[in-house]
Amino acid sequence: MKGMFHSLFQIGRKLFAPKFTREYPEERRPFPAASRLRIILTSDPDGEERCVACGLCAAVCPVDCIAMDKAERQEGPLAGRWFPESFDVNLARCIFCGLCEEACPTAAIQLAPYPVGPVPDRRDLVFHKADLLVPHQGKAPGVRYWARAGKGHPPDPATDPWSLMP
Ligand code: SF4
Ligand code: SF4
Repeated sequence: MKGMFHSLFQIGRKLFAPKFTREYPEERRPFPAASRLRIILTSDPDGEERCVACGLCAAVCPVDCIAMDKAERQEGPLAGRWFPESFDVNLARCIFCGLCEEACPTAAIQLAPYPVGPVPDRRDLVFHKADLLVPHQGKAPGVRYWARAGKGHPPDPATDPWSLMP
């Protein structure tokens, strides 16, 4: 009997509660910052691409959905730096496990909370470098890999090994 009254109370409460309708898909809720919905390649605080085409993300990917071609800058102040000439991720195969992000030594590849919209063809889910590259630092603000590696950048005094001597 007590359970029945409880159920009736709950039904009445819901019947007279104010109604709220969200006009999806025009009105979308933001996803939590930790959501893994898309792969991005971030930039460092100087606006330069972080990826050094080391291939660690591709090596660790359990479904083998990352491919890249490495190149080296030949001239200019950034000469000597490696970068990916091409970088492809097959999001139709990606399982959004985050292992690539864990393996990346430069914080370049990250999983971001921006969903990929519906696509008419699965082949559209192969994202190329131009689709992946973003002009911000993602969830790793302040990371400058090249300040430690020292190519085309003044060394970071905080990581100078001589400063760590006893
Ligand atoms: S999230 Fe996982 S499956 Fe997707 S590209 Fe990264 S390592 Fe591969
Ligand atoms: S995204 Fe990171 S792990 Fe992958 S190739 Fe670039 S620097 Fe290496």
